[in-house]
Amino acid sequence: MTTSPSAQRLNAAQLDAVDPLAAFRDRFDIPNGIYLVGNSLGAMPTSARDYVRVELDRWSTLGVEGHFTGELAWKNYHALVAEQLADLVGARTTEVVAMNALTVNLHLLMVSFYQPTPTRHKVLIEAGAFPSDHFAAESQIIQRGFDPADSLITITPRPGEETLHRSDILAAIDTHGAELALVLLPGVQYYTGQVFPMADITSAAHDVGARVGFDLAHAVGNIALSLHDWDVDFAAWCSYKYLNAGPGGVSGVFVNERHISDQTLPKFTGWWGTNPDTRFEMATTFDAVSTAESWQLSNAPILSLATLRASLDIISEAGGMAALRKKSELQIAYLDRRLAEVVGERVKNITPLAIDERGCQFALQVTNGAGRDVFDQLEHRRVFCDWREPDVIRVAPVPLYNSFTDLEQFVQILNEAVS
Ligand SMILES: *Cc1c(COP(=O)(O)O)cnc(C)c1O
Repeated sequence: MTTSPSAQRLNAAQLDAVDPLAAFRDRFDIPNGIYLVGNSLGAMPTSARDYVRVELDRWSTLGVEGHFTGELAWKNYHALVAEQLADLVGARTTEVVAMNALTVNLHLLMVSFYQPTPTRHKVLIEAGAFPSDHFAAESQIIQRGFDPADSLITITPRPGEETLHRSDILAAIDTHGAELALVLLPGVQYYTGQVFPMADITSAAHDVGARVGFDLAHAVGNIALSLHDWDVDFAAWCSYKYLNAGPGGVSGVFVNERHISDQTLPKFTGWWGTNPDTRFEMATTFDAVSTAESWQLSNAPILSLATLRASLDIISEAGGMAALRKKSELQIAYLDRRLAEVVGERVKNITPLAIDERGCQFALQVTNGAGRDVFDQLEHRRVFCDWREPDVIRVAPVPLYNSFTDLEQFVQILNEAVS
């Protein structure tokens, strides 16, 4: 825990005054109210308009030549984000590519990394997985001719508990051992905000001969990641949550270097995965790009990548994940403290309290069961947060654009709503 004891005693205005990232709030268009829902849709970088306008202007003046002209040539536009994405997830630049949407990419990656055999066919996910991830795993199992009743293993928290114990996750991997083909888990759980022990999960899965993929939808831009060093096989994330790339933003993918040159790996292919030097010769021999780009199928959605670039440039300017997480830990400590002081037992946070087991999201339960009413009141008072069935209000202080004053105002409004 890096929070200094003196910071614990400062009030919101004092913390804002000494916050080195405070000025970045002005780089975003934030809807009128208290915006605490960056876990669902990150706020809009004001510069996104300019990045998109540049591409519209290039289209307007260059037409088809925009594909090949200048530093922003569309044929290579996806590569403009690779280095920044690699920094955020702890990867080599060659291990990442921005393409498609998250669930699409989970499928494409499972085509490569879920290779069931009659003896090794199981996929381990959480019982509380995000539905899209559940559907993706289930349908991949069916697609390969297996039965989810035998092959889809779901892990559940202990009775009366909300989050998973590290030891229970590792024990489940061990139990299914030789039958386990793939472990597909989140980096940060979308409902509880729990950070999964990704390094330990990866080595446990590899020990039993299984592959490991992580859904980083709630992890990227929220917590520090070291996918390469952890030796994760693959990962995917979306860019509209903590990466602020806007609705439907382009997903990102990580494929471990070890697998990139493996020609035996099954893969769905398209022309954007072949050698760009010969791509336009229109030959039909697939000559895989020697990076994660070989998983690309189609030419890239330039306007969506433009908004992602706008956001990634701001994140880089702010000092990257280390700087964001430093502030985030202060915000987490501040909100913990003020919730305890002001709201007390009337609201329970089911997110783990240990700082290395949580990102910026809080998953709040109203203890008298009136959570839905409280949420409606928060919305009415223009607190942007969200409700997730059955009983959780999710709020996420985002270090790039939320102030400590936002958090204080939220606590006061929440207190009135639960009173
Ligand atoms: C947000 C989220 C998704 C969304 O999937 P899309 O394909 O981008 O619509 C999927 N899985 C998880 C865990 C998420 O948090």
